[in-house]
Amino acid sequence: MESDVRKIPVLYLVVPCYNEEEVVEKSAQVMSDKLRRLVSEGKIKRNSKVMFVNDGSRDNTLRLLHQIAAKDAVFSVISFAGNYGHQSAILAGMMMARKYADVVVTIDADLQQDIEALDNFLSSYMNGSEIVYGVRNDRHSDGFFKKSSATAYYKLMHLLGSNVITNHADYRLMSKKALDALSEYQETNLFLRGLIPTMGFASDVVYFDVKEREAGQSKYTLSKMLTLAMDGITSMSVRPLRMIAGIGFIVCLFSIIMCIFSLVDWARGNTVPGYTTSILVSLMMGGITLFSLGIIGEYIGKIYMETKKRPRYIIDTFVWKESKDDSGEDA
Ligand code: UDP
Ligand code: MG
Repeated sequence: MESDVRKIPVLYLVVPCYNEEEVVEKSAQVMSDKLRRLVSEGKIKRNSKVMFVNDGSRDNTLRLLHQIAAKDAVFSVISFAGNYGHQSAILAGMMMARKYADVVVTIDADLQQDIEALDNFLSSYMNGSEIVYGVRNDRHSDGFFKKSSATAYYKLMHLLGSNVITNHADYRLMSKKALDALSEYQETNLFLRGLIPTMGFASDVVYFDVKEREAGQSKYTLSKMLTLAMDGITSMSVRPLRMIAGIGFIVCLFSIIMCIFSLVDWARGNTVPGYTTSILVSLMMGGITLFSLGIIGEYIGKIYMETKKRPRYIIDTFVWKESKDDSGEDA
């Protein structure tokens, strides 16, 4: 634990944006207003910023972000060369922000996550936490499908050996110390929600209410959600592979017993019946084999991607302007 008293931090909000033209202007306003209020309450330093990460949007998002940043130095904009996904966007933002900030909070562009929770995040940091997880109170703003799939997913994740925090979705504060530690993880398949809890550090949980999306539609398509779910499982645990081995073992035992029965049947001379049984057994075996191969293939794919050591994202442009620090001079 930290023994020294913490100083008032420079806070950076990292905001991933993918096709968010309907909402970015409003979000920029709400977020910068909140930062100013926190500054005036003496909770953060004046050179705190909102750092947008444009994840290869195909609409007007980038142009709007550049306009917003041109007017006010409180905004900074990282723009990716392509769409690398939400996890890469927040990683890039955090890795850039840690060069300037004492604490970084990642938050979605759609204002669904209650920004007023920042006060609690910050007081928890001041009390010594290096990582603070935002956990949603309930899921009333989600549809039935999203709600039930999320619940099932968290159950499955825990069953499969991952220590994700239930109902925590990347609304999170990390100190510079924790971010420096995170930067040591070089893996390509980065599943932040599973990885960060394994790092250790003094951590805390802050509850917040989820709101409706301010504007626009969810940018998490079903396929993006499934990819994230699959990554979450295969990047954190090899338990599925062990389960396959377990199933294989049980099937082997079963088939030995079946062999003995068939031999006995054959010796007694009643071998003709059993057509249905044979079809069922071969279909079932084929199914189990293909499914197992699929899971093993998923891991091999992961190994393949890791061995390439490709960059996790490519930054096309970066806008950052000096803002005034606490003394009123340029920082
Ligand atoms: N997002 C992103 N890249 C993507 C998909 C989403 O940067 O490929 C961002 C998006 O702009 C938003 C955040 O990730 O700021 C969460 O997405 P969204 O609100 O659409 O997800 P939901 O809240 O519906 O799960
Ligand atoms: Mg959202």
